[in-house]
Amino acid sequence: MIQRTPVRIEAQLLDNQCPDDDTPTWQQILADSITCPESLLAQLGLDPASWLQGARAGHKLFPVRVPAPYLARIRPGDPEDPLLRQVMPLADEARVVDGFVRDPLEEAGATAGTGLIRKYRSRALLMITGQCAINCRYCFRRHFPYDQHRLSPQDRTAALHQLQQAPEINEVIFSGGDPLAVNDRLLARWVDNLAAIPHIKRIRIHTRLPVVIPQRVTDDLLQWLSHPGLQFVMVLHINHPAELDAPTRAALQRLTGAGVTLLNQSVILHGVNDRTDTLYQLSETLFDAGVLPYYLHTFDPVAGAHHFNVDDDRARQLVRELNALLPGFLVPRLVREIPGKSGKTPLDLNF
Ligand SMILES: *Cc1c(COP(=O)(O)O)cnc(C)c1O
Ligand code: SF4
Repeated sequence: MIQRTPVRIEAQLLDNQCPDDDTPTWQQILADSITCPESLLAQLGLDPASWLQGARAGHKLFPVRVPAPYLARIRPGDPEDPLLRQVMPLADEARVVDGFVRDPLEEAGATAGTGLIRKYRSRALLMITGQCAINCRYCFRRHFPYDQHRLSPQDRTAALHQLQQAPEINEVIFSGGDPLAVNDRLLARWVDNLAAIPHIKRIRIHTRLPVVIPQRVTDDLLQWLSHPGLQFVMVLHINHPAELDAPTRAALQRLTGAGVTLLNQSVILHGVNDRTDTLYQLSETLFDAGVLPYYLHTFDPVAGAHHFNVDDDRARQLVRELNALLPGFLVPRLVREIPGKSGKTPLDLNF
């Protein structure tokens, strides 16, 4: 039975003055994320005697961060849940394994300066912020304090100047971290500035935020995403079909309704999605939600995440099997990042 404390008049008046109090903003949801192992285990009914020591060890290496809307998709009491695996720190993370390094993409130096990274002739990548809404255990950036990396107004002016001087660039990619972790006012300003550069036709946004916190798809976001004269592409990051719950689908529908092209990239992860039926369901579920599979990344050998590793032959086999089951447009491209090499390298599937 629910115990109700008597409501005092003052409190009621206060409530009436704040009619939206029960619909928290995405910023509040983000601020209220789970950030300690104890609370993650408690919320999911996992036995601290079995999990807490390992979770604390992993948390020390890379802190826990799980927002409530993502937590809601995890099956309580199931330590093998594929979404839980992506966010729960484990004792395994402290193990040192040959070949698994702190900076697998050797990008430590590359992110300095104005935040503009250019690997291709026609497109440039802009690191809007280093902050993320969720801490994915397998992230190849887990060893860097990216959340301290923010573009100053001077960086921004310099980046815009560089883009103005490069007529061959027609697409700007917002990346991070997660570019949608910054507020809409700042993003709208970027878009206005970029729209004023005649040779820029497209803006692409690499983000996991609409998946992790669907409330991030605000009216203000849809407003700047509908800027006339520019086309918008959003590349989401979804690894498992269970990540697409009803609120996420509704948020994605608002994006497609605003004319945004939705694509997805996944990372192949042991114990999360390294099965043909899971990847098959992922592609089908994505398309159902208006999203086309784009890339399937091989695992980057980052220290502390070797328990997610899937070897290349297995990855090739999975994608060959997907080819037999799905139309070509629902089979993601299997790619790898090779340090020092320009861009992503497709893996030969050895048919
Ligand atoms: C991945 C990436 C891009 C985009 O590459 P596409 O093949 O067009 O998806 C652009 N710049 C950098 C630095 C990248 O890492
Ligand atoms: S959202 Fe992307 S960048 Fe952020 S922790 Fe997850 S994998 Fe890393």
